[in-house]
Amino acid sequence: MSRKGILFVISGPSGVGKGTLRGKLMETPCEDLIYSVSTTTRQPRLGEIEGRDYFFTDADTFKSLIASGELLEWAVVYNNYYGTPKKFVLDNLEKGTDVLLEIDIQGALKIKNVIPDGVFIFVLPPSVEELGKRLNARGKDSQLEIERRLACYDEEIAHLDKYDYMVVNDNILEAAEKIRAIITAERCRVRRMQ
Ligand code: 5GP
Repeated sequence: MSRKGILFVISGPSGVGKGTLRGKLMETPCEDLIYSVSTTTRQPRLGEIEGRDYFFTDADTFKSLIASGELLEWAVVYNNYYGTPKKFVLDNLEKGTDVLLEIDIQGALKIKNVIPDGVFIFVLPPSVEELGKRLNARGKDSQLEIERRLACYDEEIAHLDKYDYMVVNDNILEAAEKIRAIITAERCRVRRMQ
């Protein structure tokens, strides 16, 4: 028996720890699971590597990727463009390799329209207060920016019902284990077998 690849989408509010969670998962990746590196116009942060963390590009190049239909989805997140390369994802799914995306909520909802049998995982903070603390602790954003992100929280969480799973990121190791369990369970679904 064989099956097509499954698209796993990790998404959730900014600051909830999606990136750390993805890093933890990919430290000892599940077999046949590949991470799709996004393209962005934001500047690389210290320690980030081209092609591993993101494909860094400029706004004009990004717009030409949109125009030529090379992105599965794209969104403007906090004043920068972010997008998922279409060919990489579709080619891997077609040959039976599972693909992991870590994207924002707008992007996840767009993908759900294109690939409805993907598995959509919403990562939640233990509380909105804890989310505020994490945004402050990571020191990447101004106070105004943090307030703006927290103000989006209620609107973002209203989309929870469009997701298949929710994982509270209280403890990173436990949250990563839960995602591994979701991956294993989805791979065993009879309806996915061909
Ligand atoms: P950061 O700049 O902190 O790496 O990411 C900012 C936000 O953009 C995060 O919520 C991250 O999940 C999201 N993001 C990263 N890549 C993509 C992508 O390809 N598409 C969309 N829609 N969001 C993305």
